[in-house]
Amino acid sequence: MSHAFDDQMILPGLGDSLGLNLREPPRSTHEHGVFFSAPSIDLDGYDRIVLCMSGGKDSIASLLHLLDEGVDPAAIELWHHDVDGREGSTLMDWPFMADYNRKLAQSFDLPLYFSWLEGGFEGEMCKENAHGRPHKVETPEGLITLERDTRRSKPGTRLKFPQVSASLQTRWCSSALKIDVGRRALNNQSRFDGKRVLFVTGERREESSNRAKYNQMEPHACDRRAGLKARHVDAWRPVLHWSEEQVWDALERYGVTAPVPYRLGWGRSSCMKCIFNDPTIWATLRHHFPGSLDAIAAYEQRFGTTIHRKKIPIKDLSRQAEPMAIQDAEALDQAMRTEYTLPVRSEPGAWGLPKGAYSRSGCGPS
Ligand code: SF4
Repeated sequence: MSHAFDDQMILPGLGDSLGLNLREPPRSTHEHGVFFSAPSIDLDGYDRIVLCMSGGKDSIASLLHLLDEGVDPAAIELWHHDVDGREGSTLMDWPFMADYNRKLAQSFDLPLYFSWLEGGFEGEMCKENAHGRPHKVETPEGLITLERDTRRSKPGTRLKFPQVSASLQTRWCSSALKIDVGRRALNNQSRFDGKRVLFVTGERREESSNRAKYNQMEPHACDRRAGLKARHVDAWRPVLHWSEEQVWDALERYGVTAPVPYRLGWGRSSCMKCIFNDPTIWATLRHHFPGSLDAIAAYEQRFGTTIHRKKIPIKDLSRQAEPMAIQDAEALDQAMRTEYTLPVRSEPGAWGLPKGAYSRSGCGPS
């Protein structure tokens, strides 16, 4: 399906059903660098291309598209935001995710820089009358710690899970653990000053009605092209218009083995215990990884609020569906290990579509 078809047929229809006008690009401000549709751009015009690599199929497809477009790999660096931080929490994410990203980057011979909010998801959720904790950012010169400016913010309290919502205030995990971390990493590295930087992320319109409305290209929030630092930062979503079929085709062409969550049957690769998980996923976690829901259940008791928006306790939610059968024994064995030992790339002819491909089961935005 071409992006033109998306823009002319699918999106307007989607907009009608949502009461939105998507028949025209929302803003026709090309002179300001905002494009609703920008499937192809001049990639030679950038000094640095920063690609946010979650370890899921869409960010991998974004990387493969850059390579397909002939980008010099020397211009690309991968960034991965560790959702659980590096201070010992294991509450939310897949144990192998950090190492998987490391091995993925190695297989393409690309640098990978981790960054995270100190204490991760759990630390932020347990914030009680306290300021936000520092951000940690790996850079070519080493790890930097970015303290918070306590003069500009008041102490805050969370003591509850983020909730499923399009609003990033309510669904605070995406903003606190990923978006803010990425922004501070861009704002606090002088190597980007006076440079043209392309910031690449892997959202797709098909994923949600909210993402269907995203601009494909726009100045990034950290853009300071007219400022003292002369830092030009464009945000580009190269696979925004892609179908899921195009994504799997790209992974197959490059022999990138489907990441573990899809092999287990998940339709998306996000946090293992993502707030968007449906009862089938919670049931699958309870069944195949006994005890994996205990810490969340304990926080539900402590906070008096549930991870699920409808106030259904996690253990009850996990009993509302049958667990998925998992046939991929290798992926099942890998799932709870921190060291990633499976092949990242498949031998020619050995690539296979995973069980979770084209499945709606699982989870939502990351
Ligand atoms: S994957 Fe889910 S739980 Fe994790 S940060 Fe994104 S929305 Fe939050």
